[in-house]
Amino acid sequence: MQDKLFIDGKWEKPRKGGTIDVINPATEEVICKAGAGTSNDVDHAVKAARIAFDSGPWPKLTGAERARYLRAIAGKIDERRHALARLEVMDNGKPLPEALWDIDDAAGCFNYYAGLAEELDNNAEEPIAVADTRFSSKAVREPLGVVGAITPWNYPLLMVAWKVAPALAAGCTMVLKPSELTPLTALELGRIAEEIDLPRGVLNIVTGTGQDAGEPLTEHPLVDKLAFTGSVPTGRKVMMAGAQDIKNISLELGGKSPFVVFADSDIEKAVEWIMFGIFWNQGQVCSATSRVLIEEPIYDAVLKRLTEEAAKIKIGNGLDEGTLLGPIVSKGQYDKILAAIERARLDGATVAAGGGRPAGFDSGYFIEPTVLTNMTTDSFVWREEIFGPVVCVMPFRNEEEAIRLANDSRFGLAAAVMSEDRARCERVASAFRAGIVWINCSQPTFAEAPWGGYKQSGIGRELGRWGLANYLEVKQITSFDADEPWGWYIKG
Ligand code: NAD
Repeated sequence: MQDKLFIDGKWEKPRKGGTIDVINPATEEVICKAGAGTSNDVDHAVKAARIAFDSGPWPKLTGAERARYLRAIAGKIDERRHALARLEVMDNGKPLPEALWDIDDAAGCFNYYAGLAEELDNNAEEPIAVADTRFSSKAVREPLGVVGAITPWNYPLLMVAWKVAPALAAGCTMVLKPSELTPLTALELGRIAEEIDLPRGVLNIVTGTGQDAGEPLTEHPLVDKLAFTGSVPTGRKVMMAGAQDIKNISLELGGKSPFVVFADSDIEKAVEWIMFGIFWNQGQVCSATSRVLIEEPIYDAVLKRLTEEAAKIKIGNGLDEGTLLGPIVSKGQYDKILAAIERARLDGATVAAGGGRPAGFDSGYFIEPTVLTNMTTDSFVWREEIFGPVVCVMPFRNEEEAIRLANDSRFGLAAAVMSEDRARCERVASAFRAGIVWINCSQPTFAEAPWGGYKQSGIGRELGRWGLANYLEVKQITSFDADEPWGWYIKG
């Protein structure tokens, strides 16, 4: 099944017959071959989604009817949570408890949007009080159309769920192009769609590379909306491709998020949240708080505890009991991260912990939890997203300086602040130029709350009701209700 594409409710081989090796990053073994879809497959999938939208039942179902399908998907994900989590570990490398967390979140996301689909039945129409009372007007929310969704490899099924669940809840149909590095759980979702008898053409899944399958999807004239999660350079290309037909576009891109720790913080709590903010998922998290700013009086103490604890993290195959840090997703990412650490060293940064491949690992793309200090604010490692278990730590003198340093970035996805002083936390939270702010923690994510970035971290918001709005058009319907003639050209 893995070498097939899910199009119009059927599994079929890519027309050109190509495959892509799917590699387990913990062992470097090829675990299976996925289909390498190309523009012909994308065209077929988009046309299936188009027909399903234009003449199929899906967009015309009530929200409650669509909700039943979404709940059925959630139920199937839940039923096979262990199998899906293991697949995610073999595909992506993350530790099994993290994968289980992600799978549960994916099921939760489908359940949450089932609820919003039901609500749509009551709130799809909103009366508008217009100034001229001879008219009555209303705003109606309708499904946006055919969605081209492109997702990354860091949360393979969860990032898919963040797009598929709201898009289906809204009544859209879609073509999904998962990351070529981690296509397996997305394909399982195709299987689930088949099992629950999702109407054909509503969800189509085309695996393949960004160039051969992603690009044709972004350029396809029958796609109404592009929903993309990935890096800034690819996001830029997606936006440019979508500009051709003025497609609706939402982008969830990268980050270089700050974590500001004030001197009144509890040092153990600070170290725990700093670690959670950068070592979870091997640091391959768009919102990772990879720039840590610590107020001078506690800088040495926090750094000492952070380096001690980072060195204790159990590294290993994500399927092994007790593993807290798995391998990096691919050889390409592994090489990029090591090159970034080397560049930081050459630029004068100090490697306070980690910095390379852990001892005793002959295979697998493993990198130690790495803590860097003494970098300059114009250095590559401080400014660019490394997307690995690499944290930059810098001292600051006062609140004003912390805010300035935190906001000095072209990204604006997330930011965190820690202090016992609630008023200060609120002040700093409002000063951050970022779409997501955490107080006294880092990384918690909820299906109900908006997710997305300021500046180059993206356009639009996923999750919550904002995530549903991503897939809805707003139509104004205005009626002239007065008995009198309009009387502009034809005078009574
Ligand atoms: P990427 O940009 O390399 O790839 C993302 C997806 O785009 C993949 O499916 C890829 O095949 C596809 N793609 C590549 N080139 C394409 C093209 N020209 N046209 C269309 N599609 C193309 O990103 P990645 O390495 O998979 O993921 C890591 C990045 O994703 C990081 O920058 C991370 O911050 C970001 N990310 C952001 C969020 C968020 O919510 N903001 C969440 C997860 C990841």
